[in-house]
Amino acid sequence: MSAKVLIVDDLFPNVKLLETKLSLEYFDVLAAMNGPDAIAICEKGLCDLVLLDVMMPGMDGFEVCRRLKSNPNTAHLPVVMVTALDQPADRLRGLDAGADDFLTKPIDDTALFTRVRSLVRLKAVTDELRNRALASREFGMGDPLALAAAETGQNASILLVEDRKSSAERLSAALGQHHKVTVAADPHDALVLAAEGTFELALVSLDLQGFDGLRLCSQLRSLDRTRNMPVMMIAEEHDRARVIRGLEFGVHDYLMRPVDRNELVARVRTQVRRSRFSETLRGAVQASMEMAVTDGLTGLHNRRYLDSHLSVLFCDAALRHRPVSALMLDIDRFKSINDTYGHEAGDEVLRAFAGRIRLHTRGIDIVARYGGEEVVIILPDAEPDAAHVIAERIRERIEAVPFLIQRETREVRVTVSIGVACRHADDQGPADMLKRADLALYRAKSSGRNRVEAEAA
Ligand code: GH3
Ligand code: MG
Ligand code: MG
Repeated sequence: MSAKVLIVDDLFPNVKLLETKLSLEYFDVLAAMNGPDAIAICEKGLCDLVLLDVMMPGMDGFEVCRRLKSNPNTAHLPVVMVTALDQPADRLRGLDAGADDFLTKPIDDTALFTRVRSLVRLKAVTDELRNRALASREFGMGDPLALAAAETGQNASILLVEDRKSSAERLSAALGQHHKVTVAADPHDALVLAAEGTFELALVSLDLQGFDGLRLCSQLRSLDRTRNMPVMMIAEEHDRARVIRGLEFGVHDYLMRPVDRNELVARVRTQVRRSRFSETLRGAVQASMEMAVTDGLTGLHNRRYLDSHLSVLFCDAALRHRPVSALMLDIDRFKSINDTYGHEAGDEVLRAFAGRIRLHTRGIDIVARYGGEEVVIILPDAEPDAAHVIAERIRERIEAVPFLIQRETREVRVTVSIGVACRHADDQGPADMLKRADLALYRAKSSGRNRVEAEAA
């Protein structure tokens, strides 16, 4: 994985040292000697991760970090702060500014490479989501990136896996002010609870009695239901080797005992924030995929969906020698509804028309808005006679009850004409069937409207 790492430090020898180390591990390296330059590079999307010195003249590292994390265009970039001493106060200020991790000078190589690799891996996932979420902007759903960047990381529901009573109490008390904490002393219970999928983060002690906490972490990282949930480890100082193994297989973060309560709160918040960021993006992607195949006015599928799904369904039916029927519906004299009551009222009728059709079709049927006031219904496995009965029932339900318009202050009578056609053995594709349905519809119109016509025998 070749990632671009941006080193930000005002001292040239520091830049050089990190550059050499990272280059030897095949990372691409960029450098900036001050905050504003660093921000400019990030905004241009030129790097994947930032190694940020805290002490710089002018704009210090905390300020650079804060700006990067509050800008929707750069909030997703992992930031590792490099502090001169292992100063708890600095770490806290960094976490408050939104930093993802810390390294202390002199920089330990193992720590450097594990952190950089794990953060780069995480970013690759976020990038994919980001790109797809950007597409959802086109559907006018607001800006998912801004929404995601505004997340505060509070009020999460947290699973704490700890069998030492006093430690469990201390940790829950610290987290309880901002989150809802559930304690599980038994790792098996913890796994069952976590698989229910309601927790947003798990905090796992690595020194449980008679159980390897690292194994639980690995299970949580690999189960489908918990894969997207951040996992943090709590370990004793002598357990560094296991902590590093955990980070290598994807555990998100760790805390060393004795746990500093402020650092705990800040790190948990960072993880919750990052995970919600991804969830928001994932949601936007999902919604945009749905919107891409849905008609905005009626909520029915759109023509794009019909085209792609019908060809698959049609070929499948041909292979299995199964029937498929198509109904082509067109509202009668719809133009006069618009002309008499206005376009708004016309829209109301279209929405209600779609709703009524849905009531009289099955989940496996495809119902798609085909044009302005035209709807196509595809009935898999329906023989011609059955299709005719369904069409007649829909026609009758549309005519039977008038439609309410203008906030239910008025009623308007609506009727629909329907053409019915079925798959023929010699059809080249679904277009042939739709063509016959259209011809049948035309006959329904010309012979008086408000009627169902089947294709010519
Ligand atoms: P026919 O019985 O022959 O089908 O007559 P018609 O008036 O329904 O047919 P025509 O195709 O002439 O008119 C369809 C009208 O549907 C014209 C167009 O303005 C209207 N229309 C198309 N899309 C929409 C829409 O989204 N909202 C509204 N309100 N009207 C629409
Ligand atoms: Mg019409
Ligand atoms: Mg029409």
